[in-house]
Amino acid sequence: MKNQNYKEALNLPIFKTISEATDELALDSYVIGGFVRDYLLQRNIPKDIDVVAIGSGIDLAKQVAAKLPGKPTVQVFKNFGTAMIKTADLEIEFVGARKESYDRGSRKPAVENGTLEDDQLRRDFTVNAMAFSLNKRNFGELLDPFSGIADLEASILRTPTNPDITFSDDPLRMMRAIRFAAQLHFVIDTEAFQAIKRNCERIRIVSKERIVDELNKILLTEKPSVGFLLLYQSGLLPIILPELTALQGIEEIEGQRHKDNFYHTLEVVDNIAQNTDDLWLRWAALLHDIGKAPTKKFQEPVGWTFHGHEFVGSKMVYKLFKRMCLPLNEKMKFVQKMVLLSSRPIVLSQDIVTDSAVRRLIFDAGEDIESLMILCEADITTKNPNRFKKYHQNFKAVRLKIEEVETRDHVRNFQPPVSGELIMETFGISPSKEIGIIKDAIKEAILEGIIPNEYEAAFQYMLEKGHELGLKKS
Ligand code: ATP
Ligand code: MG
Repeated sequence: MKNQNYKEALNLPIFKTISEATDELALDSYVIGGFVRDYLLQRNIPKDIDVVAIGSGIDLAKQVAAKLPGKPTVQVFKNFGTAMIKTADLEIEFVGARKESYDRGSRKPAVENGTLEDDQLRRDFTVNAMAFSLNKRNFGELLDPFSGIADLEASILRTPTNPDITFSDDPLRMMRAIRFAAQLHFVIDTEAFQAIKRNCERIRIVSKERIVDELNKILLTEKPSVGFLLLYQSGLLPIILPELTALQGIEEIEGQRHKDNFYHTLEVVDNIAQNTDDLWLRWAALLHDIGKAPTKKFQEPVGWTFHGHEFVGSKMVYKLFKRMCLPLNEKMKFVQKMVLLSSRPIVLSQDIVTDSAVRRLIFDAGEDIESLMILCEADITTKNPNRFKKYHQNFKAVRLKIEEVETRDHVRNFQPPVSGELIMETFGISPSKEIGIIKDAIKEAILEGIIPNEYEAAFQYMLEKGHELGLKKS
């Protein structure tokens, strides 16, 4: 197995160019990390390629760029000693081989030049530490001092050195372990997992942006519960997302139990992952019940209640997004809206569906009505097959009703059929609260089905309302 050659992995023209540039500078260079791992796993070859030079990565990048068609610019990150070239379809990062040790309490590395093996030793996992040579003398040779290939064949994530050191040096690696386990269907080596448990508190020194990057990648896996359960078992989840772990547990009073909303949530996320790749809708699924922890009450005679959890939950979304440096823009508003409306279609599916209730739902959800339905269907986690079937059928009926009502009444992108200007003109009034009152009354009348969503009817209704308010047609 040792020193096997993988020339065929390097048939992209860029590797030949790097090899020539390496030769011209009398250096050594290797492609390392994700590219090698994914090639050996026969995964899609990544667009980002990492090259390590024994010497200056920046010099090598410049030499390579000068040989490429169009001479792309080299982005130099002097502080990190790295350089990047972007071509039409690739991003190649060059770095000089490093030997490093971290100061405890920060993750600012003290960096020294090192050999290839020094550099491989400071990488996160053995399967990420393998390199293919780009040198003329042994082009394509696999350099694998830590038996990454054996770990890859056994689907194991193991650190190249003592895991306590690896994880303590850069605690983000604990999340990377879990993310790779979830993405690649690998298992984390037992010793490494014990080390994650011991070091989990150190995640606090890692920037929120890096943590969120990994959380997003976990959320985007095929079965996100795999990653979230590992985060939970490792002790990382209560530190990063305590709102979620607060949902864990079942309480019983007077023989009445509520479901474990943490495990329920993970099921909902797995369900939704089968129907959408939208990261934000997956976040909505993850957070849809977070308001249940602070609103939980046992009330005679009904039992367990979570009154207003959707509203409380949507407020918590803002705090959580702010704390985690997630975007506070329309993405957050979307997640808030999904959480706030998350019970509405369920209520509809249980009662006799009136047109006006459906119109209100469409009005409130607007463009996001389909996302909301996907969320609500994912929320069905009953283990009773009859109920499961019944609930899904009910939602089908709600969907049909939504289509029927929307086709007729067009309230999804509700535009008031009578404008404020027209109201002012009709009654000869200037901007005042009456205009708001009339507009609101028209909207309510349409949603309630008192009048159709049409100009003529709305105009008549406006006259009536104006009259009630003591206004006169001018
Ligand atoms: P992917 O691109 O799918 O996230 P990757 O393994 O390529 O996977 P990158 O973040 O692109 O991950 O990093 C490239 C390589 O750099 C890794 O394979 C690993 O060798 C090394 N690496 C990245 N981040 C770390 C880290 N925090 N600690 C140690 N090594 C790391
Ligand atoms: Mg990569």
